[in-house]
Amino acid sequence: MKEQNLVYFLDGKLYVNLTNACTNQCLFCIRNLKDDVKGKSLWLSDEKFSADDVIAQFNEIYNGEKDLIFCGYGEPTLKLDILKTVANYVKKNHPEIKIRLNTNGHANVVYKRNILPELKGLVDDISVSLNAQNEDLYKEISQPNIKTETPLKEVEDFIKKSVDAGFDTTASVVTGYKNYDVDVEKCETIAHNLGAKFRNREWLDNGY
Ligand code: SF4
Repeated sequence: MKEQNLVYFLDGKLYVNLTNACTNQCLFCIRNLKDDVKGKSLWLSDEKFSADDVIAQFNEIYNGEKDLIFCGYGEPTLKLDILKTVANYVKKNHPEIKIRLNTNGHANVVYKRNILPELKGLVDDISVSLNAQNEDLYKEISQPNIKTETPLKEVEDFIKKSVDAGFDTTASVVTGYKNYDVDVEKCETIAHNLGAKFRNREWLDNGY
């Protein structure tokens, strides 16, 4: 398999890039802008890799980092089995590493089951893209492609289940992208009512 950046290092943290596929097509997605983050190409030309390939890259790159984040150029939970195997390996061999999952919160719709209990002991923190305060704006900004008329409700449900399962959970929005009217206060209220923390990330021209 061609060498690809399945695991990469950025600002003192390790990131795991499992797929370029996503069930959203967010207008502000960095994938629309560029194919690298700080010089690291994150496009995967071949997604037929295994958890062992990811673990091998982790072992090559690991140098005492304390944080590992499943993130990359797509939705990590679309590779759920690999994600769980890699997280399990990291937790067993480096229990001091804190593991975060960055997700669009669609996994329970995709898999038609609650996947959150499956992540217990593997992931510590979960950051979910809330993106908007109502369904219409969510659909406009995120352009979701999942089988539901109420995708934002599903994302909120995922956040609630993440909180209930004991994960340190953050709901996030991106503001400052064109004229989209993301109501930060309302989104923060939604996050807090679900028991989650809230993060407002300013959109930057270079995508990070
Ligand atoms: S959820 Fe993330 S990876 Fe998917 S389109 Fe939106 S910003 Fe991009």
